[in-house]
Amino acid sequence: FNVPEAINEPVKSYAPGTPERAALQAELTKLRAEVRDIPMYIGGEEIRTGNTKPLSPPHDIHHTIANFHEGDKSHVEQAINASLGAKEEWNKLSWEHRASIFLKAADLIAGPYRARINAATMLAQSKTAFQAEIDSACEFIDFLRFNVKFMTEIYQEQPVSAPGIWNRLEQRPLEGFVFAITPFNFTAIAGNLPAAPAMMGNTVVWKPSEDQIYSAQVIMEVFIEAGLPEGVINLVYVDGPEAGEVVFNHPDFAGLHFTGSTGVFQHLWKTIGENIAKYKTYPRIVGETGGKDFILAHKSADAKALATAIIRGAFEFQGQKCSAASRVYIPRNLWPEVEAYLQEDIKDIIENRSGMPEDFKNFFTAVINERSFDKIAGFIDRAKESNVADVIAGGGYDKSKGYFVEPTIIKVEDPHYESMVQEIFGPVVSIYVYDTEYFDEAIYLVDNTSEYALTGAIFSQDRYAAEHATQKLQNAAGNFYINDKPTGAVVGQQPFGGARASGTNDKAGSALNLLRWVSPRTIKETLV
Ligand code: GLU
Repeated sequence: FNVPEAINEPVKSYAPGTPERAALQAELTKLRAEVRDIPMYIGGEEIRTGNTKPLSPPHDIHHTIANFHEGDKSHVEQAINASLGAKEEWNKLSWEHRASIFLKAADLIAGPYRARINAATMLAQSKTAFQAEIDSACEFIDFLRFNVKFMTEIYQEQPVSAPGIWNRLEQRPLEGFVFAITPFNFTAIAGNLPAAPAMMGNTVVWKPSEDQIYSAQVIMEVFIEAGLPEGVINLVYVDGPEAGEVVFNHPDFAGLHFTGSTGVFQHLWKTIGENIAKYKTYPRIVGETGGKDFILAHKSADAKALATAIIRGAFEFQGQKCSAASRVYIPRNLWPEVEAYLQEDIKDIIENRSGMPEDFKNFFTAVINERSFDKIAGFIDRAKESNVADVIAGGGYDKSKGYFVEPTIIKVEDPHYESMVQEIFGPVVSIYVYDTEYFDEAIYLVDNTSEYALTGAIFSQDRYAAEHATQKLQNAAGNFYINDKPTGAVVGQQPFGGARASGTNDKAGSALNLLRWVSPRTIKETLV
């Protein structure tokens, strides 16, 4: 098949004086000055219910940037009907036409929409320019371009035939509609979860996290401008349980594409299980859920590289990546040197590089919402009072202007202490210092103290130790890094996803994921 080559979108620098910086700054100023009115999108129509709710930047909570129109069950029903209604026409298009639409969407994000999608992510999700660039522009472009490449490979794959027999495999979309539930933390994931099933010929009802509605609208505008036909992706803002009641009771529910918390995913899976006899077909369930991602250091590790990985892995985007490093195991021989680096960096971040994401010098800004802020503050408070844990850096928080929590290190004496095993989803990293010669015990702790298995890293300059940990920890992380931080997987390079309580491990941005959105038909023809 002839498709444009998929190449990772180059990350722009946003250095002072660059055109991309000027464009992004202009867009931020423009969006700041507006109060956007955000409709739902059902069957190609903009739906304004009049039941509006305000949206504010998490780092500037007294400022309103938009009002969105909230819907109810009736809108979910409309969205399902619109998606079912659009299916026949959508399936008449050849895969090349579907691919063209999504390739055009990628080009629009790479070009005219880049500043808009990045500015929206910075304002509404409190990402720095660099984090917005890698997660909303580049990763989204990569998802679209690489998925087109994988899609063509899937359509190309055919069974063998024999003399007098011609076997064919036909990749049909699922029978029914797909429900996409998307998270606040990655604009690219929010776009990919509806886009991937749609690319494979499905039609979709899309429910974003309330904290990401602002950038979801930009994504929808891109899809529309790229020529996505009406009703193929329908965007609704409806309370989760209300939406679920309609979707999971519908006979045409055919698939769930989910990124979010483990608890919600398990609840949805149970609901789907209870309703299983109602559906025409067994629904596909694909989910990326929580993480308690680790960094394990061997005594031979490079202390500086390790400290940098902890800072970046734990505190970029305020620790709100599913992949963020949140528990670290360091041998005693390295600890003094690593601690000195960490203290110095954290001091610098707190004093010089924290605040509004619109200030380009900042590395660190606010966490997403009040619920999250309170949860994180609770972990910090309990650690301050604990006998087996110590807050050794950061630990401050303040929600008077925005949801600001300092980058925080909790040093634990007990490797089973709560902050070492529970997901916090914020800028808190827990560190356990182990006896230098007890590497195997540390490996055991990594593997057995958490229910999750999303990402993890081993730092070692000893190749045998690195290999040993890689073998022993084969089920502890779906994305495993050697001498690198556990965040920042690149589409096409490190297919992303984890197992255990972290998800179904259907690797976003890979053929594995796309295969979940097709229901193949085998055709055997006897050549009479
Ligand atoms: N793919 C992202 C990374 O490697 C994480 C995605 C997530 O947080 O869900 O950092």
